[in-house]
Amino acid sequence: MEKLILFNTLKRKKEEFIPIEPGIAKIYCCGPTVYNFAHIGNLRAYFFEDILKRVLLYNDYKVEHVMNITDVGHLVSDDDEGEDKMEKGSAREGKTVWEIANFYTEAFKKDIALLNIIPPTIYCKATDNIKEQIDMIICLEKKGFTYVTSDGVYYDTSKFPEYGKLAKLDIEGLEEGKRIEFSSEKKNKTDFALWKFSPKGERRQMEWKSPWGTGFPGWHIECSAMSQKYLGETFDIHCGGVDHIPIHHTNEIAQAEACSGKKFVNYWLHGEFLIEEKGKMSKSAEKFLRLQILIEKGYSPLDYRYFLLMTHYRKKIKFSFENLDAARNGFNNLKTKIAEVKANIKDSNVIDIAKTGKYLDKYIGCINDDLNAGEGLALTWEMLKDETLNPSEKILLINVFDKIFGLDLDKIEAIKINLNIPAEIIELAEKRKKAKISKDFKLADEMRNQIKEKGYEVVDEKSGEYSIRVLS
Ligand SMILES: [Zn+2]
Repeated sequence: MEKLILFNTLKRKKEEFIPIEPGIAKIYCCGPTVYNFAHIGNLRAYFFEDILKRVLLYNDYKVEHVMNITDVGHLVSDDDEGEDKMEKGSAREGKTVWEIANFYTEAFKKDIALLNIIPPTIYCKATDNIKEQIDMIICLEKKGFTYVTSDGVYYDTSKFPEYGKLAKLDIEGLEEGKRIEFSSEKKNKTDFALWKFSPKGERRQMEWKSPWGTGFPGWHIECSAMSQKYLGETFDIHCGGVDHIPIHHTNEIAQAEACSGKKFVNYWLHGEFLIEEKGKMSKSAEKFLRLQILIEKGYSPLDYRYFLLMTHYRKKIKFSFENLDAARNGFNNLKTKIAEVKANIKDSNVIDIAKTGKYLDKYIGCINDDLNAGEGLALTWEMLKDETLNPSEKILLINVFDKIFGLDLDKIEAIKINLNIPAEIIELAEKRKKAKISKDFKLADEMRNQIKEKGYEVVDEKSGEYSIRVLS
């Protein structure tokens, strides 16, 4: 098997992936804070992690994949400092924080499924692991890394000489950690809360007893505590968005390594942002783009997956509907091409392993070079145009490539898709699709019947797309 090369943020270079235990890859990915829907920028991070996981599986690793669900309230950044995201969601919707957390956890899982993202082996909720977090703070306290102020227990970053190694931080020049409420009692700018006390005389919806007083955990402690609980004190890969490098992941390392005295993670992988014209997409803005909005506008979730696939995970993507349209066209062309190829398969086709092997080698060369699935997509087109391959060989390769792409290419049926289908029928089918999206089922049924009368049938697919068949 070809070497798997990954870009390790810790070293700022590409390195060969060598797992701690042969044949097993243990990965931890920072999950969603469930106070609202995920925006499509958030989803890009989970997509990149999905590609990583699929590439590991393709390389025959058994993957143990853990993702946390942040369901404890934390203070939001600059925009609305001092507020708690969960409590804010609760006030906005008139539900308890627990209801908010459950609702948006389910919404997140639904988005992930629509995008064909393979769910983690273990989802762990911060609120299910409060004891583990308190235990880690006790461990840090015993080792002399903490101090208590009037509003919480803090990590003294000056006690951890390697603080900031991941982000290559210039500690002196740093602004105060932005996720932490300002506390004049902090000893160093980079110190952060491990435990926050509930405000005096107030009961929070989520609060727990601790050796230091009733309150709630700081944001960073859950990831250190839960990743080590499920994957061990040292594990292989930790992922997240690039925005996690300077604070969240930096603090995770400080907590975990100070407590265990061992290296926390061998490979740190970070995905770049999806940006709108205005800049990084943020959920704090009033209106934000989420997957459901793309679906309402007539895009399938897999159109968005294809769009993401085109750009390497370490490059920024500029989102616009023009760009998404271009991706959808490309995806439709690919599906049509595959349907055509399938229609030409003959029983007499024989698979020549030498010919398919050449493409499989090239393909693994792309994906094992720091997950370059976009290059794999370009190779797919090259392969489909290769006249020395017969249709059976092409379809075999498509089905293998799709193990990484996750575009449901194996489910495309022979021909039929928009091919030799009159424009009039496609128009009716599009109308029906829009009617279904706006839940006008009466109109949708009417369209289906009109299509039927003209000798065709619309078949819905799981992806939200449809195909058209000629009725025999
Ligand atoms: Zn995390």
